[in-house]
Amino acid sequence: VPNSIEARDIAYQLHPNVNLRKYEKTGGLVIESGDGIYVTDTSGKRYIEGMAGLWSVALGFGEKRLAEVAKAQMEKLPYYHTFSYKTHGPSIDLAEMLIKMAPVPMSKVHFTSSGSEANDLACKMVWYRSNALGLKDKKKIIGRVKGYHGVTIASASITGLPRNHESFDLPLDRMIHTSCPSYVHFGLEGESETEFTARILKDLEDLILKEGPETIAAFWGEPVMGAGGVLTPPAGYWEGVQEILNKYDILLVADEVICGFGRTGKMFACETFNIKPDVLVVSKQISSSYMPLSAIIVNDRFYQPIADESNRIGVFGHGFTASGHPVATAVGLENLKIIQERDLVGNAARLEEKFLGGLAKLAEHPLAHSSRGVGLIGALEMKPWEGAAAGDAAAALSAACEEEGLICRNVAEALCFCPPLIITAEQIDDMFACVARALDKVAAARA
Ligand code: PLP
Repeated sequence: VPNSIEARDIAYQLHPNVNLRKYEKTGGLVIESGDGIYVTDTSGKRYIEGMAGLWSVALGFGEKRLAEVAKAQMEKLPYYHTFSYKTHGPSIDLAEMLIKMAPVPMSKVHFTSSGSEANDLACKMVWYRSNALGLKDKKKIIGRVKGYHGVTIASASITGLPRNHESFDLPLDRMIHTSCPSYVHFGLEGESETEFTARILKDLEDLILKEGPETIAAFWGEPVMGAGGVLTPPAGYWEGVQEILNKYDILLVADEVICGFGRTGKMFACETFNIKPDVLVVSKQISSSYMPLSAIIVNDRFYQPIADESNRIGVFGHGFTASGHPVATAVGLENLKIIQERDLVGNAARLEEKFLGGLAKLAEHPLAHSSRGVGLIGALEMKPWEGAAAGDAAAALSAACEEEGLICRNVAEALCFCPPLIITAEQIDDMFACVARALDKVAAARA
């Protein structure tokens, strides 16, 4: 319809992660409003948001307290910065809360606005720290195949997904990648999970030795890989990684952008997997994405050399206009208070069995291969379709789910789920009932 909202979207907006020529013809889904775990499009059709937006809307789409806090902060002090010696209450309050709730002893917080920015900054700070210590050659960063850390130059380079590298002249040559710890995808014929873990850990150590341990500054990892397709690590993997990093004096950066603040049934996935990071990168559920907000949280081992160096050269030469934005940090603080008050981390832990059980039941469908997950993040792996392009099965299922009133996300052969943390047991049943109907529909169309 000419001049409809859909037509104007096609005319004026450039969308990433779509085939642009196809999008010009088909257009997109315009979401107009939200409430609880639901969003509604411009035709009035309601969907369960099974992905919490982009893995992020912990409190669902209608939390009035966040709107009230944002309004009050805008009226009191709509903007101020934390650029040099100037600062303000909301950023201080949230920084204090993050240090107190961190899963390991941490020292300082610096706020940014997106997960990509936070990872980029952490990367710069890793290099700054190496320079401060006089370790001028210790600059390489190890990411992982299928890891995702964002789309800015450094974060996209640490990312291990071809679509974020190809055609962008990335990765930067300081960024190298080690094997992905997903047993379902990379386990060899006849290889046990324990053997797989040992092999993947050996890959990491071999890479470090090949490159030279003195050249490697940090290892980057999501506790559970999200955008790579909800890839849960095998038992013993994280303990093994840490042992190797300690042996070669390599920093560990845990990217908790998706997992942080309850997703895995603990406040941080570092607790779920016994990870002891030097740097924590957080975003998304920190504000339920009601405001753009992210942060890096660093320990003393990380902070002290940076402070020493800035003492020598005068300043730590960095800073964003929006770092610690008062409205964003006020909303973040209120959001985390609500997560605690309503025990939403406990909700994720209590519902884990039901959520993973529901996924396992769906995996019995003839079109499905297996399921996996932890807390309230999971995936249903489809059997690849013979003669079709890779990922077609999960794409068809995702489209059928949307028809049935459920938004979820297909990644390669998997359909991913990451519902708001406020979801109830009944709503999990509703969500998976949509998937069951969608599976039957796709099966009928294939027959
Ligand atoms: N890190 C992880 C683990 C993510 O999942 C994402 C986004 O999905 C990012 C970083 C990048 O965050 P942003 O999209 O806010 O830049």
